[in-house]
Amino acid sequence: MSPDEGRRIAVVGAGPAGLYAVQAATALPDVTGIDVFDALPAPYGLVRYGVAADHAKTKTVVRVFRQLFESGTVRFFGNVTVGTDINRADLLAHYDAVIYATGARHDRALGVPGDHLAGSHGAAEMVSWYSGHPESSGPPPLRLGTSAAVIGAGNVALDIVRILAKNADSLIDTDMPDDVIAVLRDSTITDIHLIARRGPAQAKFTPVELRELGDLADADILVEDVDLDLDASSRQEADSVRRVGTNVKVMTGWVGRPPMGRPRRIHLRFWSSPVELLGSDHVTGLVLRRSRPGSVAVTETLDVQLVIRAIGYEARAIPGLPFDADRCVVPNVEGRVVDGSLVLAGEYVAGWLKRGPSGVIGTNRSDAAETVRGLAADLSALPGRKIVDPDAVVGLLVERGVRFVDWEAWLRLESHEAALGVARGAVTVKLSDRAAMLAVCHP
Ligand code: NAP
Repeated sequence: MSPDEGRRIAVVGAGPAGLYAVQAATALPDVTGIDVFDALPAPYGLVRYGVAADHAKTKTVVRVFRQLFESGTVRFFGNVTVGTDINRADLLAHYDAVIYATGARHDRALGVPGDHLAGSHGAAEMVSWYSGHPESSGPPPLRLGTSAAVIGAGNVALDIVRILAKNADSLIDTDMPDDVIAVLRDSTITDIHLIARRGPAQAKFTPVELRELGDLADADILVEDVDLDLDASSRQEADSVRRVGTNVKVMTGWVGRPPMGRPRRIHLRFWSSPVELLGSDHVTGLVLRRSRPGSVAVTETLDVQLVIRAIGYEARAIPGLPFDADRCVVPNVEGRVVDGSLVLAGEYVAGWLKRGPSGVIGTNRSDAAETVRGLAADLSALPGRKIVDPDAVVGLLVERGVRFVDWEAWLRLESHEAALGVARGAVTVKLSDRAAMLAVCHP
């Protein structure tokens, strides 16, 4: 079947959700071409810009993803923003089906007084910065004082606590940009408080990631034993859910551990809800309401100069596509986009835009497979694209002056980053400035 004849699919978002969808869609017999669009010049989404730099093993999934682009049927269009450079109507004209997988990279608001102060940041801002995201708003202030609070008891909070607690020189062999390491090296923060509003049995941590905190060479970990007291239902949960039981065991093991006089300290605080951030122009304190089950609630103020809220991410709407603003997802039934009771033919979602911000990288594989199963079942009945020529979309982008990054151009950037890595004793070192990235892509 020639490329003009078969079905063509557009995937918006070159992160794990989009690329697992590509993987599933390449197996469909009628599909002769898949084009992947991403707003950034580089592929891999959350694997490149969300997985922490010191979790190199998790990032090895890119080996699976890169093979897709080497198969001959999958093209990459980086540096192309859907809604600006190309819109939904363009995609529906050039493709038989479109899968949106743009993820969720915005911070949920905490909604307490003082949240707007300098020194109050969202986890997405922090993670984007230390991951070298081209749209990062820059580093959080790490030299305003010695104490930071990270709000939330999920894996993102663990990542941030760990990065703040590590000796910056231990990150030299990661892909972290040079300027990020320099800022972390200059940080004056010595005490990092992880603030959980519920108890240890309700924490969303996964045990492997939690254990890492206790293994850091440069930080002592401190937790009060009363914080780890479990009520009857929490005890039952710890006994019946392996993840919860292991988490509680790991934290209990830290209780009696004498501090070793390490340069930094991590304080775990449960049953503590943020009430207010204090300060006139920048954060000087965090007011918490401590309410352990069975105890009278008390108010407590922590002297902190940096507050990072790791309380979950949010997706943003795709222009023209329905959006559930309460759940921050595109309404869908098993991946088919719906507008009320109407199924929008040929439009699908995958990943965090489909189900909300939960699950690890691998969760997206089964999630995307579900979406592509629906697409496969629909394919023969879809009306078909209006513009048949696969190269017409290239012409459209060129005509609009979009400097898109194709796979060859990305490989130039990948090689450039690998060369930067050699100079630093790392496998690769990311470039984070979009203009610099494009200059390498388009020499
Ligand atoms: P998450 O797992 O949903 O955790 C969010 C945390 O924020 C919860 O402890 C939640 O507490 C708390 N929270 C929410 N609203 C709050 C508020 N108003 N005040 C105080 N606390 C509040 O989300 P995440 O950490 O952003 O992670 C997102 C997903 O990515 C997760 O599935 C995670 O496992 C995954 N991830 C995995 C890794 C890894 O595998 N290494 C790394 C990073 C992220 P409640 O439970 O009380 O609501």
